[in-house]
Amino acid sequence: MTDAADVTFADLNLRDELQRALSSLGYEEPTPIQRDAIPVLLEGRDAMAQAATGTGKTAAFALPILQLLESGHRAPEPTALILVPTRELCMQVSEAMHRYGRDLNVRCLPIYGGQPIVRQLRELKRGVDVVIATPGRAVDHIKRGTLALDRVRVVVLDEADEMLDMGFQEDLEMILDATPTSRQTVLFSATMPSRINNIARKYLNNPARIQSESAPVAHGESPAVRQTAYMVSRANKTAALGRILDIESPVATIVFCRTRDEVNTLTETLNGRGYRAAALHGGVDQSQRERVIARLRSGSADLIVATDVAARGLDIDQLTHVVNFDVPSAPESYVHRIGRVGRAGRAGVAITLAEPREHRILKTIQRVTGNDIIIEKLPTVADLQTRRLEMTREALVEALAADDLDMFRGVVESLGDEHDFVEIALAAVRLAHEATNGPIGGDDIPDEAPPVGGDSSKKHGDRKEHGKDRLKHHGKEPGKGHGKKSHSADGGGGGITRVQINLGKEAGIRPQDVVGAIANETGMKGREVGGIEISDRFTVVEVPSKRAKDVVAALSSTHIRGRKPKARVLPDR
Ligand code: AMP
Repeated sequence: MTDAADVTFADLNLRDELQRALSSLGYEEPTPIQRDAIPVLLEGRDAMAQAATGTGKTAAFALPILQLLESGHRAPEPTALILVPTRELCMQVSEAMHRYGRDLNVRCLPIYGGQPIVRQLRELKRGVDVVIATPGRAVDHIKRGTLALDRVRVVVLDEADEMLDMGFQEDLEMILDATPTSRQTVLFSATMPSRINNIARKYLNNPARIQSESAPVAHGESPAVRQTAYMVSRANKTAALGRILDIESPVATIVFCRTRDEVNTLTETLNGRGYRAAALHGGVDQSQRERVIARLRSGSADLIVATDVAARGLDIDQLTHVVNFDVPSAPESYVHRIGRVGRAGRAGVAITLAEPREHRILKTIQRVTGNDIIIEKLPTVADLQTRRLEMTREALVEALAADDLDMFRGVVESLGDEHDFVEIALAAVRLAHEATNGPIGGDDIPDEAPPVGGDSSKKHGDRKEHGKDRLKHHGKEPGKGHGKKSHSADGGGGGITRVQINLGKEAGIRPQDVVGAIANETGMKGREVGGIEISDRFTVVEVPSKRAKDVVAALSSTHIRGRKPKARVLPDR
């Protein structure tokens, strides 16, 4: 394996159209999984790669597929088939394909349950290059004879462990059997349980094994750094960062983003909100770079927002905080980033903002680095208020220590004739406080819960139990008005409804079959499905009340384990 810093996208021999798309997206260098997987896939070899969401795995298989597409006239039948567990991922992969393939006029078609089949049929007839499908819907099309797979050259099984967990094994086998045996088969999975090896033995030919986390990282390299993470949705990240910075009041911070565009956007937004931020990325020239660093050193900027590439070799003593605006794509990168603080025994803080779907890679980072990363609750408006008052108090203590207060003495003494001194002090504190603090905008930002069960192999064992092997959680006041969101079926409000189907153990129903059917047909996420009880002849599943009708309709129109269930809403208990 080569060192990440040595490999550029140009070294990967991707065609010009792809290089152009990547640089316009602001990607500066391949992530480890891209560096390791792309050359293997370009050779045409079968491969199985262990990589979670957040590692850059989508581009790792999308780019080699796009490389294959002929320019000019293409056959109407698809060249590549990508199978994914959920509708959400289906759309994400399809969008990524479009982004990377924009100069190749790639024709991608996402096909998933719950979407009108007519549109899919029309597009398939017109001709597509890449089909991205959930297994259930792919099987429907194969049975109808509307998805021709005889020209398929590459099949990707994305999130293979999830697909098996959702009960799609038979569907996958049927789909693979419908493709040419000469195809290249590529499997991506966050975990590698033995079920994955079984399918690999049957359908992959001498696969290369790729592990994005294989580079060893020395344990405990960053002892003086306090490491925390916050679970927050993408939409709330910038607001959350503002709150965290206000609570932490760092001396100097470096915020890491993945791409140039993200660096530029975040820098602008932060400046708009009154922080003094400067951008650093591969497109910033040397003299500008030196100016930015000098600003941070002299205190005329509080934050540098940077990509990994631009931050290489940066050595700034003043830095107290490192923020990962996204979870880094690999443990090595995490360790490099946080190594910028806590030097020479000084204290430092590393903060990571993670979306729920990035929870697994966060866990991997914790395991591989041996570092403790504590999941904190986002500061609430009340926390912020308390912190600001503390800072006003500190400022007053400092002012009291100084001996230049005489010019104010006359004011206080004359007010003392009519007012109580405590009242005067209160009014003065208020003015001082308001002079440095504007109102706190917005409401509390919700903490997102990580997906149920950190490890998908246990995912459906007991759906009510939170994963035991999760990162450490640290609640300041658990459940006390922190907007805590439970990840049971109520999805953060609106109640739970129980839906019953008339199939149970006797029909061979397993929890994953029910979750799979609901997710596939309604587009709900697996984690929105609550507890599942399976008795001999019936199954009861908890779902958010607002989705109960959709779930009943979906379950009544699908097949589970080859049977057509009847579903109904159960009355409240
Ligand atoms: P994935 O693991 O495929 O879900 O990708 C995670 C995120 O990383 C996505 O938002 C991608 O757009 C982004 N990404 C993928 N590859 C790179 C790269 N080489 N440089 C910067 N960002 C990337």
